[in-house]
Amino acid sequence: MDVGKMYMGGEWVEAVHGDTWKVYNPATGDLVGEVAFGDGDDAKRAIDAAAQAFPGWSSATARERAKYLLKLHDLVRAHRDELAELVSLEMGKPLREAKGEVLGAADNFLWYAEEAKRVYGETIPSSVPNKRILVMRQPVGVVAAITPWNFPVNMVARKVAPALASGCTVILKPAESTPLSAIRLFELIAEAGFPPGVANLVLGKPDSIGEAFINSEKVRKIAFTGSTRVGKLLMEGAAKTVKRISLELGGHAPTVVFADADLDAAVAGVFESKYRASGQQCICTNRLFVHEDVHDAFVEKLKARVAAAKVGDGRDKSVEIGPLVNERAVEKVMRHIDDARSKGASVVHGGSRLTEGEYAKGFFVAPTILTNVQANMLVCQEETFGPVLPVLTFSDEEEVVRMANDTPYGLAAYIFTQNLSRAMRVAEALEYGIVGVNDGEVTQTQAPFGGMKESGIGREGGHYAMDEFLEVKFVSLGL
Ligand code: NAP
Repeated sequence: MDVGKMYMGGEWVEAVHGDTWKVYNPATGDLVGEVAFGDGDDAKRAIDAAAQAFPGWSSATARERAKYLLKLHDLVRAHRDELAELVSLEMGKPLREAKGEVLGAADNFLWYAEEAKRVYGETIPSSVPNKRILVMRQPVGVVAAITPWNFPVNMVARKVAPALASGCTVILKPAESTPLSAIRLFELIAEAGFPPGVANLVLGKPDSIGEAFINSEKVRKIAFTGSTRVGKLLMEGAAKTVKRISLELGGHAPTVVFADADLDAAVAGVFESKYRASGQQCICTNRLFVHEDVHDAFVEKLKARVAAAKVGDGRDKSVEIGPLVNERAVEKVMRHIDDARSKGASVVHGGSRLTEGEYAKGFFVAPTILTNVQANMLVCQEETFGPVLPVLTFSDEEEVVRMANDTPYGLAAYIFTQNLSRAMRVAEALEYGIVGVNDGEVTQTQAPFGGMKESGIGREGGHYAMDEFLEVKFVSLGL
């Protein structure tokens, strides 16, 4: 088995200290790859390469930058099956979802190829006759991007594409569980012909690499997706050199099913938002509030839908729910289920780890529905990041908005109702960056994605992401 390498200054390199890291399939426990495992010293090499490439890349025309991004879009689309299989292999995601993720990544490269050409400035009427006010937008500089394992291709694209489009150079540090998809994506970046140093890949020790990013004066911006805990560490560290920072952090999404909802549509939406990626999504439903008048009917329908979903190795095309990423994730999910049970929750479906037969060597938890859930249970307080759906009841609109907002998180929320006035009222009252109304699958390339409160700062997606990588410069022109 070849050892996967890092990519810096246009070259494939091993770790400075020669360390490597093994990658396992979470569905089978099989060894599926080995990669270079670097640290801060490797990050410094990558930072130097990115800094050296910055003057050339930032002064290239937007059309030229777009040309490389378009080529990358074509390559990612052409290799979509292979990339999707890698995603499924190293993090267990069902193939259908993995393909959707890869096409989403391709779409980001296409969108930002176009957006590169729309970095407009402004002229503002001056208060004095012999002056002109010009506003220009310029790339912030070298960007350090850090991504999690749950979307190993698209999380990378959502940072790298707008950064490159705006004229920044990038160093990516992907999650240690999913380096294989990142390496393959960088092979395509190399094939697309980007100049050396424009996009760099560093793999390895997260704290040491993070420190190198934080301490470097050359790095002008950190773009991070991951846990709120690490996001806070990076934000504190970024203060040392007053770096720009954008953070896509944890969530605790409430979903509200009102009595006037189309229950079948709500079941489909809740299933999608809860069990996609086995519940390992930041925008996953974490608390489901169902109006007391429709609670029993809704839970019955949902149970039937969940029971029909096949659990297994994501590479099996009939599988809808794959494994969790590792043993630690299984332990956390089981702790949440056990805590809820011990405090009086009822298990309507699932509730246990799957350990027999095809599940014996993987990290599988049965998709679970809990009722009689109370706000003091861990499932209502911490992000579960697994296929567990706690169901609570409510009786009126004001009460449920209050309960839904009662969390430090503010990423995504969902409501199901047929009443337009209620939909608008509640969407406005929810303290969340994203609200799905009769929609359980809210992500689109062109739409702003990001959270309020402890779910983050800044936005990815659409033209909003470009602002994260651009400085505003005011030129006062005396005549
Ligand atoms: P994590 O532990 O915070 O890891 C995310 C990334 O940060 C990984 O690349 C990780 O490297 C790296 N990292 C860990 N410690 C670091 C440090 N001290 N300095 C610098 N980098 C460090 O999060 P995760 O468990 O992988 O991902 C799940 C979390 O991400 C959940 O909370 C989820 O809600 C959140 N998420 C948010 C969004 C969003 O858009 N808001 C999207 C997806 C996921 P290693 O893998 O090597 O540890």
